[in-house]
Amino acid sequence: MKSFFQLILMFAVAVWARVRERYFSRERILKIRDKKLRRLIKYAFRKSPLYRKLYQNIDISKAKLTDLPTVNKEYLLKHLPDSLTIRGISRDEIVLFAHDPDSVGKYFKNRYVLSTTSGTTGIIGYFLMSQWQWIVQKGVEFARLLKHRLSFPYVYKYTVRTKLRWAMIVASEGHYITYLLARLTPKQAFYLSDIRIFSITKPMNKMVEELNEFQPHYVHSYPTFLEALAYEKLAGRLKIDVDFMSSGSEPFSDHAREVIKKAFKDVEIVETYGTTEAICLANQCRYQKMHINEDYVLIEAVDDENRPVSDGVASKKVLITNFINKLQPLIRYELRDSVVIDRNYKCECGSPFAVIEVQGRSDDTFYLMTKEGHFRAFPPIPFEALFLRIKGLRQYQLIHEEQNHLLVRYIAQDSKENERIEKEIRERFAEFFKDTDVADNITVTIEESGEITRPPTHQKVRQIFSRVKPPPNII
Ligand SMILES: [Zn+2]
Repeated sequence: MKSFFQLILMFAVAVWARVRERYFSRERILKIRDKKLRRLIKYAFRKSPLYRKLYQNIDISKAKLTDLPTVNKEYLLKHLPDSLTIRGISRDEIVLFAHDPDSVGKYFKNRYVLSTTSGTTGIIGYFLMSQWQWIVQKGVEFARLLKHRLSFPYVYKYTVRTKLRWAMIVASEGHYITYLLARLTPKQAFYLSDIRIFSITKPMNKMVEELNEFQPHYVHSYPTFLEALAYEKLAGRLKIDVDFMSSGSEPFSDHAREVIKKAFKDVEIVETYGTTEAICLANQCRYQKMHINEDYVLIEAVDDENRPVSDGVASKKVLITNFINKLQPLIRYELRDSVVIDRNYKCECGSPFAVIEVQGRSDDTFYLMTKEGHFRAFPPIPFEALFLRIKGLRQYQLIHEEQNHLLVRYIAQDSKENERIEKEIRERFAEFFKDTDVADNITVTIEESGEITRPPTHQKVRQIFSRVKPPPNII
């Protein structure tokens, strides 16, 4: 019964979110935003010991947003139980649940959603949200992802005429948000659509086989992975027709879009900007502009010192405030993303929301050669997923040094663990390549590295990159 009400709530939120974007003026949206912001600040101050302490010398009824101190992942981690607006949850309970493989895809204490960020930067973040807030978030994401497609003919087509088959190709071995998004859904939703989760680390030939069998209408994955699927389709191995594709976590290259459009003729592609801390940051419209969901989040583009940068200027960081999560409020929470915001852009789609461009990560796809001389695309995210599961790994870098020769550089949290970590990396790679047709044609070198630094031109360490030029003919 509870899940039935959740489903109703999810659709109601989705309809409301769609109505706002379609019919509300920018002024009205900003009023809603400011009201929600005030309410969240007051609530956090009243209920969370962390924010009470942080704002103790500030008159929060008068303060401007920029008067409030910022928070970050490290700070929140240090005061984890105090960052919550409910008492009685300990750090140990959270950590234990987060690291128990059997708890993945389940509700924490049967009522909270616990998600973690990847540990590859050294620090794992834990984020909690109530089940009802989670449902609201899903409703918003649903409406803002589908946008104009959330119309009567579309809904009719994919509920009454045929059940929407929805493939999520994501990292599925931890409490990762995209996976939870597919998994923690009111169960009645599965009568309306068939959502299937495919693990990103599955070998491509197996993936192709399973997708051919499933025949999805809609695929969500990472741009580089969608591009790799397009090569499979052009080569005639992948036999699916897709209506709609969405992607997150990486920017789309023009080349990837081109290849995908060539392979999947009428497909519509949209990008999303979301993080574990706030899934619904921004979604792309049909004119390829990313709109900030300003009635649910507030994004400030700032420099290194957290001072605001002007519209049109690339930021060094962003500060996000998420209005949906009241269990663990995030107010002016720092993210290491570089964005460009334009508040005055009048988009053809008519959205009242500001436009944002995100300069995301830029990892490379590796083009590895079979013994017969054919090239196969290996996108970066499955490699990343291989590293995510290795305990005690502080940092890594994967480099395609020369054609079919890979180099792994890593730093362990404790150098006494080097041997075990190396062995695990070697095993994971062997397992990953085992069923592919490049398996007998590649070499992998693994070496402990003193330091892995980011190049001066990049915000983040380039974790997965190629020194080998892509071949002219990939199929
Ligand atoms: Zn637009």
